[in-house]
Amino acid sequence: MLISIKSSREIELLKKAGHIVYLTHQYLKPYIKEGITTKELDKLAEDFIISQNATPSFKGLYGFPGSICTSINEEVVHGIPGNRKLKNGDIVKLDIGACYKGYHGDSAWSYKVGNVSKEIDYLMEHTEKALYEGIKQVKPGNRIGDISHAIEEYAKAHNLGVVKELVGHGVGTKVHEEPDVPNYGKSGVGPLLKEGMVIAIEPMLNLGTADIYMLDDDWTIVTDDDLPSAHFEHTVAVVKDGYIILTGE
Ligand code: MG
Ligand code: MG
Repeated sequence: MLISIKSSREIELLKKAGHIVYLTHQYLKPYIKEGITTKELDKLAEDFIISQNATPSFKGLYGFPGSICTSINEEVVHGIPGNRKLKNGDIVKLDIGACYKGYHGDSAWSYKVGNVSKEIDYLMEHTEKALYEGIKQVKPGNRIGDISHAIEEYAKAHNLGVVKELVGHGVGTKVHEEPDVPNYGKSGVGPLLKEGMVIAIEPMLNLGTADIYMLDDDWTIVTDDDLPSAHFEHTVAVVKDGYIILTGE
């Protein structure tokens, strides 16, 4: 397995790409309301990313038709933007990637549409916290398994289903690079984290079963029991004394 080590110049470019992803999320936030279609959100995101001298990483990636992924309620990830309108009480996950000067940023976030149930509130709160539990493990000398284990333990302690078929990943001149970053596993195993590695950590947690399947559109992943799923993702760099979040402010 080849895990690339990025130079400080490359980390700066990855940080710029990541910041554009962050800004795109901030730009979209006020539009996430009842009545807007996921296609409209996709168009807003694409135009914004282009205005930042970047391109949407996911457009055409493996043939994906949208610029961003829009997944609602029981849809876990890879929802295709379309004519579906957001409704009050929905949880919508926006997964956004931007490529700047050949380097990518990748961050997914879950949003409430209007007033959501207390169950969705709980799911969102603890999926976001699970992400930060994973991020806390990022430092030279730790292993990928330390991240995976921290996320799984947190999710289990909060009775949430951990999606296992989809995982985090390295990020660089490709959106998806080595290594895989699973959201479950043993601590102390897996690839060693070294200064200059860049990875996306992205727990996908479900209110019910961990089991998922793919819809007939060959993209959208949904939960087996139709209960809602949440997704939070940051791209982070391993630095000397720990980590920096690249898809933040
Ligand atoms: Mg993503
Ligand atoms: Mg990702």
